[in-house]
Amino acid sequence: MGAIDEEERRLREAMVGEVERMAATLSPSTARRAFSPRVLAALRAVPRHLFVAPEHQADAYVNRPLPIGYGQTISQPFIVALMTDLLDIEPGDRVLEIGTGCGYQTAVLARLAATVFTIELSEPLAQRAGDTLGRLGVANVQSRTGDGNLGWSEAAPFDAILVAAAAPEVPDALVAQLAPGARLVLPVGGSDQQLIVVEKRSDQSTVLREIIPVCFVPLARKKPAPDI
Ligand code: SAH
Repeated sequence: MGAIDEEERRLREAMVGEVERMAATLSPSTARRAFSPRVLAALRAVPRHLFVAPEHQADAYVNRPLPIGYGQTISQPFIVALMTDLLDIEPGDRVLEIGTGCGYQTAVLARLAATVFTIELSEPLAQRAGDTLGRLGVANVQSRTGDGNLGWSEAAPFDAILVAAAAPEVPDALVAQLAPGARLVLPVGGSDQQLIVVEKRSDQSTVLREIIPVCFVPLARKKPAPDI
């Protein structure tokens, strides 16, 4: 391994250490004592610095959000880890992600699931994330540009759904696209947001759990086409 690889490995290990410390501190509210080893291994493996602009690369492994352009941000590593852990992804799972952004969270999910379907509203962000994921050889991702509020009905049902932007309420279309036993993790609210887990039971009923207060960009709504 070269000196640069070794330095990257060290920075990622330090980031994971920070994520684990924060997970322990917040465990009374998250009800997760420690994150799954699979989730931590995915965080160790994905080169976060390659998803951010050169001017932010030095901060890529610090536990904080970073700008990714177009007024959007990549979530802090702890939140990526928490949301991923709450999804309880198994190797054969089909996962839907709303808000591809720079594609970092997508790459983490792709290491844990069989296939990740990801939707991004912004064309330039979707394009750039697709380029980055392609360059890294992440092959089990299908992406589309559009409004994630409606989910991806042709690919449903999903074993897990993650929304990376805050909705005013839980979108019905996403709950409808959960398989029995599947989970939806998303921030809900306006200026006062909570991270929520919606679990669909085998009888199709849903259970909702609030995890912790969070701060995400709003989930945009594509304006409907004007009536003619
Ligand atoms: N997980 C991302 C962070 C995304 S920030 C990452 O790792 O980089 C939230 C993203 O949601 C932004 O890219 C924004 O453009 C996108 N977004 C906002 N509203 C959306 C909608 N209705 N459908 C799909 N994507 C949306």
